[in-house]
Amino acid sequence: MGQLDCLTLLVGMMASLSACRPAATTRMEAYRQPPPPPTNKVVKTDAEWRAQLSQEQYQVLRHAATERPFGPVYEQFRRQGQGTYYCAGCGAELFSSNQKFDSHCGWPSFYDPADAKNVITRDDFAMGMVRTEVLCAVCGGHLGHVFKGEGFPTPTNLRYCINGVALKFVPGPAGGGAGGGQTPPKSDRSDR
Ligand SMILES: [Zn+2]
Repeated sequence: MGQLDCLTLLVGMMASLSACRPAATTRMEAYRQPPPPPTNKVVKTDAEWRAQLSQEQYQVLRHAATERPFGPVYEQFRRQGQGTYYCAGCGAELFSSNQKFDSHCGWPSFYDPADAKNVITRDDFAMGMVRTEVLCAVCGGHLGHVFKGEGFPTPTNLRYCINGVALKFVPGPAGGGAGGGQTPPKSDRSDR
């Protein structure tokens, strides 16, 4: 087999490998300026979302996929300093570095949303268990899940386990005043 054939085979193998596992190459988007805040609910067709988002963002935000744990996005998250996290779908403010913590779970974790009105939850019965799904209230994008009572030393005992590709990060003074040991924001989620 010639060198070129080997190379072609290798490239082909790598392509098929990456096609059958969740894509792990997408980075969390980072910007210098906050995205323009949406003023109304954002409603788009499937084709419009597909055109706007990367493949992995589309799968996570629009089809509730889960990014690979401990991937490059998680490493990015761990290294990020102060800043604010916005929805990669619509630009709504979601989380702040003030409420960020390292749960060592492989996904970005927060103990509270920065702007509670932009984050909603609902029961999720997928995968044979009951979990609480976290969504962007503005565009309905899937962000992750929230878990309660795991014993992390945070003010709320909640872990918002969020897919990093669903977020846009803007470094700077952290916005969002929900945390800091205060009462958790009002939520429509019934406590269990
Ligand atoms: Zn959104």
